[in-house]
Amino acid sequence: MDCPKCGTWNPDDKQVCWRCQTEMPKPVEKKPRKPTIFLGLPVWAWAMLVVLMVVWIAAQCVGPSLIGR
Ligand SMILES: [Zn+2]
Repeated sequence: MDCPKCGTWNPDDKQVCWRCQTEMPKPVEKKPRKPTIFLGLPVWAWAMLVVLMVVWIAAQCVGPSLIGR
């Protein structure tokens, strides 16, 4: 980010400007993205389960008729 006083670019992790020693404003903290938890499992895990279930059910319905011949 740029120093508010002298406009010099500083790495984001710097707390003071390397040029004028001005204290850098703290960067806006980005909230770490937490997965949405639903009934103890993240939603993507439920999506995986649903996909697996659909595949399993499809395999139950279609599989035997294909393999049974
Ligand atoms: Zn500066």
